[in-house]
Amino acid sequence: MMSAKGRVVTPGEEIGSVKLGIPGLNVSVSRRKLYSCVWGVVRASEDRQVDVITLREPRYPLKGDIVLCRVANVTENLAETQCVCALRTSLVQFNRVFRALLPRTQSGVVGDLRAYFRVGDVLIARVISMEIAPLTISTREDELGVVASRCHSCGSFMQREDLALVCRECGVKRKSKVSPHYDPQRFYSIYMSLYEVLP
Ligand SMILES: [Zn+2]
Repeated sequence: MMSAKGRVVTPGEEIGSVKLGIPGLNVSVSRRKLYSCVWGVVRASEDRQVDVITLREPRYPLKGDIVLCRVANVTENLAETQCVCALRTSLVQFNRVFRALLPRTQSGVVGDLRAYFRVGDVLIARVISMEIAPLTISTREDELGVVASRCHSCGSFMQREDLALVCRECGVKRKSKVSPHYDPQRFYSIYMSLYEVLP
């Protein structure tokens, strides 16, 4: 369709004449010329629309993302968390810490949330709403839930035993909404390394 197709363009760069097609995603028009609004790759669709697909992934949570977050506060009905990154095709660090709420109805557990989630627990959760801050997240899916937890008595990493967490040092045991990906050393270290550098 056009020579511009597949070209990498920078914000403000001229793509070509409006004869190339209809301005679409991330494309603006001025004096009968198309310009890119972002750093990305020019793409043309069947209906003659010219798009620029951004090369930089958004560094903020998107609906449907699986995010890594840590419980900052928990009540009977609500856990408040802080999210630092999304697990997309690769790990995408956010440009700041995002506050996200996990309502009991989206937790996948029945009863008081405080029995399953503790302050400091690191979770993987899905973003189900991002239209209004703070975000709403869910851990209802089998894969989602707590991926790292420390013993509140001695500070050791808790070990997973089916649907419970056990401290091998002092014997503390509690139920939880544990993810099958539970790996406390790995997820604590990822979370803390990102959290410490974010504003
Ligand atoms: Zn312990």
